[in-house]
Amino acid sequence: MAYDDSNIFARILRGEVPCKRILENEHALAFQDINPLAPAHALVIPKGAYVSMVDFGAKASSEEIAGFFRAVAETARKLGVDESGYRLLANSGPDAHQEVPHFHVHLVGGAPLGPMLRKVTP
Ligand code: 5GP
Repeated sequence: MAYDDSNIFARILRGEVPCKRILENEHALAFQDINPLAPAHALVIPKGAYVSMVDFGAKASSEEIAGFFRAVAETARKLGVDESGYRLLANSGPDAHQEVPHFHVHLVGGAPLGPMLRKVTP
């Protein structure tokens, strides 16, 4: 899938749409999800134009990948869930109901989250 730079996260990165910023480094931005599903619900996105984890893993530089995952870790610390626990989730493609076609990780926590996933059958 080609990257569409009109997606909402590209617009947030360009400063065209506001966000509740948690932290930022050279390669990544973390902000509050607009529709939080847990007391802590952050989105961490790379600053580069990547559609999915596969796209990111294949094309991003080592520095971008390191910067992104350091931002994920720092977001967990900054939200105060690094000891209590949190869950990372990255939706990719139609089966996962990815809404925004810019690679992102959801970081959720702040309360017991229940089972990982409802059991799925084909
Ligand atoms: P996914 O693509 O993994 O299904 O989820 C996209 C996430 O982006 C959703 O949890 C949704 O609430 C969040 N989202 C969509 N539009 C905006 C926005 O304009 N601002 C923020 N902060 N989050 C958004």
